[in-house]
Amino acid sequence: MQQYHCDVLVVGAGPAGSMTAKTVAELGVDVIFIEEHETPGTPVFCGEGVSKNGIRNAGLEPVAPIVCQEIATARVVAPNGKKIDLHATDWTGYTLDRSEFDKTLAENAVKAGAKLMVKVSATGVIREGDQIVGVKAIKDGEEIEFRAKVVIGADGHWSIIRRSAGLANYFDDWVTCAQYKLSGLDLDDSSINEFWMGSKYAPGGYAWVFPKSKSVANVGIGVRDRHTKPAIEYLKDFIANDPRFRNAKIERKNGGICPVSGTLDRIVMDGLILTGDAAGQLIPMTGAGIHCSIQSGKMAGRAAVEAIRDGDVSEERLSAYRTEFDEYWGKRITEAGKVLYMLDKFSDEDLNVLAEVISNEDIMHMANGLNVASAIASLVKKSPLKLMQLIKVFLR
Ligand SMILES: Cc1cc2nc3c(=O)[nH]c(=O)nc-3n(C[C@H](O)[C@H](O)[C@H](O)COP(=O)(O)OP(=O)(O)OC[C@H]3O[C@@H](n4cnc5c(N)ncnc54)[C@H](O)[C@@H]3O)c2cc1C
Repeated sequence: MQQYHCDVLVVGAGPAGSMTAKTVAELGVDVIFIEEHETPGTPVFCGEGVSKNGIRNAGLEPVAPIVCQEIATARVVAPNGKKIDLHATDWTGYTLDRSEFDKTLAENAVKAGAKLMVKVSATGVIREGDQIVGVKAIKDGEEIEFRAKVVIGADGHWSIIRRSAGLANYFDDWVTCAQYKLSGLDLDDSSINEFWMGSKYAPGGYAWVFPKSKSVANVGIGVRDRHTKPAIEYLKDFIANDPRFRNAKIERKNGGICPVSGTLDRIVMDGLILTGDAAGQLIPMTGAGIHCSIQSGKMAGRAAVEAIRDGDVSEERLSAYRTEFDEYWGKRITEAGKVLYMLDKFSDEDLNVLAEVISNEDIMHMANGLNVASAIASLVKKSPLKLMQLIKVFLR
């Protein structure tokens, strides 16, 4: 059996994996990253929305072909149709070409010195006692092995690395998504991302319209466990009920899963780090995981290199990664998760009332897990009694 040796083995060439590989390589340490598909970034399972900071933090500029459309406004639509337009002077968004974005991140990791092996599918970790020492994989139908001082599981929400290492089998809560890329549209304003709230559109989640141009948009929905029909049926209904989409051409059908129960309790073991979706690192309110994965990948890469240089890849040593992640991103994930569970108690009618009293800034904060406590405090002051009682759940 063919065996490969390296200091760091990264499984998965999504944003988390490519950023990890690039970081490790830039620090002068020997790294291989493996990807089961032929080209990183293809196929796409994503709404492709990201902030300018997310792109910049990945070491890129928001220019074609990586981005298709600049986004200036986030429009939240309440169940009764009330529209709230959110603008921020310090925020610009983009709709990515996610296949170009992920491909470029992987290419940049290779330029930095990482070795990329595609069409290699990891099948499980190799352990010696409590220590993870490598990964088994399949390439061209043959079993191969990688031996590494640190293994990084960046293989998405269904992570075989996490499950085979005996860490969480799955997440406590997740969003099931269905999405069409539609063409032939004539959008009034392609710089607006729309978020449609309400159980008729998407129970426990939301429906979205993320334009890629005036004539093309990703239109999708995400539902949680209370849905009463398959996700795709909610999407078909949403599209059928909006005259803008009825005669559109479906260019691509996709979907997927977003874990929304927050970062898992255990994402580090002796010789192993999980990063990105594999670790549950998404903002639960929005399902946004690209920016988190980029930042998490950099932290995972640095922690792995420092541990290798110190000759100590124990769980305790590698946990420096978790501490660093939790300081900002982990906190945001936790706070946005609390908002999600608070909103679960709201009926569509309650959401309509909320839309009347909430400020634009508070929506931004609550959706993104930023300054949530002060947003909640200001909301309590403005809310009628019924809403106040629901909001107070958050404070318990
Ligand atoms: C429908 C949908 C819409 C979304 N929209 C947005 C959005 O608009 N904005 C946003 O910020 N986030 C969005 N997300 C979330 C975002 O896509 C993820 O959070 C992000 O991709 C996580 O990056 P990652 O690198 O951790 O994992 P992934 O991007 O999933 O990358 C994992 C990589 O590992 C590879 N892999 C998996 N298993 C193996 C294996 N056994 N061996 C080798 N390789 C393997 C996969 O092929 C993949 O390339 C959306 C998610 C879904 C499902």
